[in-house]
Amino acid sequence: MPRVDAWVDEELNSLKESGLFNRIRTIGSAQGAWLQVDGRHVLNFCSNNYLGLANHPRLVAAAHGAMDKFGIGPAAVRSIAGTMDLHVELDKRMAAFKGVEAAVTFQSGFTANLGVIPALVGKEDVIFSDELNHASIIDGSRLSGATIVRYKHCDPADLGRVLAAERGKYRRALVVTDGVFSMDGDQAPLADIYAKSSQADAMLMVDDAHGEGVLGKGGRGIVDHFGLHGKVDIEVGTFSKAFGVVGGVAAGRAPLVDWLRQRGRPFLFSSAMTVPDVAACLAAIDLLETSTELVERLWANTELFKREMKKLGFDTGRSVTPITPVILGEAKVAQEFSAALFEAGVFAMAIAFPTVARGAARIRVMISAAHSTDDLEQGLQAFSEVGRKLGVIQ
Ligand code: PMP
Repeated sequence: MPRVDAWVDEELNSLKESGLFNRIRTIGSAQGAWLQVDGRHVLNFCSNNYLGLANHPRLVAAAHGAMDKFGIGPAAVRSIAGTMDLHVELDKRMAAFKGVEAAVTFQSGFTANLGVIPALVGKEDVIFSDELNHASIIDGSRLSGATIVRYKHCDPADLGRVLAAERGKYRRALVVTDGVFSMDGDQAPLADIYAKSSQADAMLMVDDAHGEGVLGKGGRGIVDHFGLHGKVDIEVGTFSKAFGVVGGVAAGRAPLVDWLRQRGRPFLFSSAMTVPDVAACLAAIDLLETSTELVERLWANTELFKREMKKLGFDTGRSVTPITPVILGEAKVAQEFSAALFEAGVFAMAIAFPTVARGAARIRVMISAAHSTDDLEQGLQAFSEVGRKLGVIQ
């Protein structure tokens, strides 16, 4: 066997033995409350489709309409020939939606973080990063070449401590945090983080991937939720979650966004968002700007599900958002739980190391406005039965 195969086999076997091998399920239907998964019709508890827009008729129609006029591919990076008027419109509409001067889109939230952070800081600079920040923030930070100082999760006092100790040694400083943490569903204490950052003359960036379309007035995000307009220097976001499409965005003051158009490497070196994606995002903004109904339904569903899970005796951690972790501990228990749920007709994946810390494996339930009350009750029933069978609850 070639040498490369031998070590890869060994690593893969070790993942399988420790319950950490990621078995990827295949979806055979449109996204929604119910899915065809590996050939079975199951209740969907794990998409990021917060508002049910991933298969919304208005988004689908907008994508079709735009394809009739513009085709599919942008055929270039934004800075050469890939900026269509649709892209310009999405940049402007997103800025207006977020209540900032300007915005620029990227191909995904991941590439937005890879682009934005190295454009803001470099070798002479320092990044203060929440210890549980998303992988794309970690990778963007590493790419920047700046010194990375981690502070304790959601702990402004610890941020203050590391700022006091380290800030003075560097040219520019950037404080960066997820707005909503994707594995725990908790929220960054953004007002306190802003206070510490501004006192220390550090820029502030928030990744609002799970806040857009979820938090704030009509889903305008975490900055709106905390009333911090004009205080956060740069908001990064994604169109892949509540917006139901795919793509990324960075929003803030006009000069900073202009700078990202000059120095954001995925903007300069990777082709633009596709036509149907951009058109569908515009339709999503139309929907969010005309009605708050979906956001309200999302929160009503979230409250019902969380309340009943707690009553059943499950540990849903520190979540205050539709992301509802069900903490189980060992990776193997989480995998067994997920498999039993699937047998009971509920699709909810286990999440383990390295996505979360060792010993903190969980099922992560993602609540959506697409769920009916009946759906939620069916899901709760399955959790209750599997939880009792596996001895997780009494
Ligand atoms: N940031 C956070 C906090 C996320 O949860 C995610 C998605 N997992 C991303 C960024 C990346 O977004 P996208 O899927 O658009 O690349």
